[in-house]
Amino acid sequence: MAKPRYLTKSRFKLGMECPTKLFYTKKKKYFDSKLDDSFLAALAEGGFQVGELAKCYHPGGQDITTLDYEEAEKQTNRLLKQDRVIIFEPAIRFDNLFIRIDILIKEGNKFELIEVKAKSFNPNEKDLFLNKNGTIASTWKPYLNDIAFQKYVLSKKFPEASIISQLMMADKTSKCPTNGLNQKFKIVRDKNNRKGVKISTTLTEQDLKKKILAKVDVSHIVKKIMEDGTFIKSIEYLANAYENDQKIITPIGAHCGNCEFTCSKDEEEQGYLSGFKECWKKANNWTDEDFNEPNVLEIWSFNEKNKMISEGKIKFSELTINDLQPAPDGKPGLSAKERKWLQVKKVQTDDKSPFLDTSNLKIEMDKWKYPLHFIDFETTTVAIPFNKGRKPYEAIAFQFSHHKVYKDGRVEHSGEFLNTNVGEFPNYKFINELKNQLATDKGTIFRYSPHENTILNHIYHQLKEDERHLSNREELCSFIKSITTSSSSMSEKWKGDRNMVDLWQLVKRYYYDPSTRGSNSIKAILPAVLNSSDFLKRKYSKPIYGSQAGIKSLNFKNWTWIEINNNQVVDPYKKLPKIFTDTNDKNLKVLTDENELIHGGAALTAYGRMQFSEMSQLERNKLSAALLRYCELDTMAMVMIVEAWQEWIREK
Ligand code: SF4
Repeated sequence: MAKPRYLTKSRFKLGMECPTKLFYTKKKKYFDSKLDDSFLAALAEGGFQVGELAKCYHPGGQDITTLDYEEAEKQTNRLLKQDRVIIFEPAIRFDNLFIRIDILIKEGNKFELIEVKAKSFNPNEKDLFLNKNGTIASTWKPYLNDIAFQKYVLSKKFPEASIISQLMMADKTSKCPTNGLNQKFKIVRDKNNRKGVKISTTLTEQDLKKKILAKVDVSHIVKKIMEDGTFIKSIEYLANAYENDQKIITPIGAHCGNCEFTCSKDEEEQGYLSGFKECWKKANNWTDEDFNEPNVLEIWSFNEKNKMISEGKIKFSELTINDLQPAPDGKPGLSAKERKWLQVKKVQTDDKSPFLDTSNLKIEMDKWKYPLHFIDFETTTVAIPFNKGRKPYEAIAFQFSHHKVYKDGRVEHSGEFLNTNVGEFPNYKFINELKNQLATDKGTIFRYSPHENTILNHIYHQLKEDERHLSNREELCSFIKSITTSSSSMSEKWKGDRNMVDLWQLVKRYYYDPSTRGSNSIKAILPAVLNSSDFLKRKYSKPIYGSQAGIKSLNFKNWTWIEINNNQVVDPYKKLPKIFTDTNDKNLKVLTDENELIHGGAALTAYGRMQFSEMSQLERNKLSAALLRYCELDTMAMVMIVEAWQEWIREK
């Protein structure tokens, strides 16, 4: 028998993002770039512990674990016959709507509907969910729509009931009551290869006494959402379309740039269909050939995408200088507008050569002090803290890599740090080691993105706030201040005399290669410089990396970075052994494809796996070795970019 086509919580969310997506979802022929491994997805998202902890805060609750719609509904109805009951994951169905509520508390005719979110909030913040003008803040909208949808279904099923809607989230101001609480919730793969959570039998009353999750009553906002007539109409519209498998045609726009139903040429060759192409062909009357030309979705940091699309100016050949209005901003190098126009113009004039502002870059380079240091951090946040007194979702810095370049051109992978010890808060060892490695000279330090600066500000804050006696607290704090700028959230303001240089900013101001198609991610920039620099091709096409007479490396031996295939350099990241060997290539790609917004998806997933799942020592060692190699390449990529630039400037 065909499975009933209900509008569930996740389908409602998808439909609210774009109604057309409901037609593509879960159809095997359409490629879907989201992780389809629930175990890895739970680790990548990092919030699986929050849901389990929330259940522990509701003793006596009865868990409905079956995934079968009918069986879950039957069990729920049986439990709801009781006057007072707490149910985890009850199944509520009304017509073609079907929800599983995280926690439902029933007392007579009163229901408390609790949606648990792996997110933190500050309970002291006034009007947390609202903008100044009283409208709902866009960051909270999906969560509030979600709970409003659940309230709607529950109230349809129980029209006489009074319902309180609550969001339960990590309270940023709370402190963890005990040590090792986060180790008491482990993630496991169940027999169907889905995620499951195992709670330790050593969980104590003390662990749960002081709650680090708190409920927020959002009934008034839910009421407001439901009073807007369009909300209920949207639910009915989406549910009917999904039930009848009807495709709702949505106007295309900038939102299509993040559509998960987009696939690459490789995936199309494997037989997948692209939902994105279907939408864009229909909307623009395009054929397959039209997708060969770049379009406005690829323009880096461009706010006018919707305007251009609505005016029918979609492909680069349809844009004019007036659409981009390039103008200098009074600073050296390319302004953001000039960079956008450069991207379009290079395509229009079929100019595949890289752009380098040699004179301004040389001025920057002349300020650099040797040896140059290149650093990259791998970090995460954990919902439940490692130690007593720490707060939920604090930054965790577990790994860095460090390359040095000397004035005479020598390169070495001079240091690294990786702490995956189970249950150990790694930040203080991390910062001690970073100081040991960087404080030996006054050389310029490079990062790629603001991330390293943000994390060091977090560690500064953690050191300052720590109530315990820390012997070198002041020394570490002044080291952090010397190499960073204070974040806008810090009340104390500073700019270090050895403030790190952001190579990402230098890329954006002084360098553009058309083969990056507008991406400034290091994963796009590295292949671009390798393909266009003869110097790098000569130097790294020999096995000098990690060789005795060549470049010192801590994780590679006699390694050759350059390998040519079809006249193109093979992406060095693709030459590394896989981080995870027990998932499919698509999931690996999702985790390792990095953009400016997602930092270190694969690394933080690997770290989470080592912390919160059961692994043999052998698996642990393999994963650590893979992490060390990836991070080493991240800093080596920075070195190669700078080496290519230096060579081009010398050639001028
Ligand atoms: S391509 Fe655009 S319109 Fe089509 S499903 Fe994706 S987001 Fe929606």
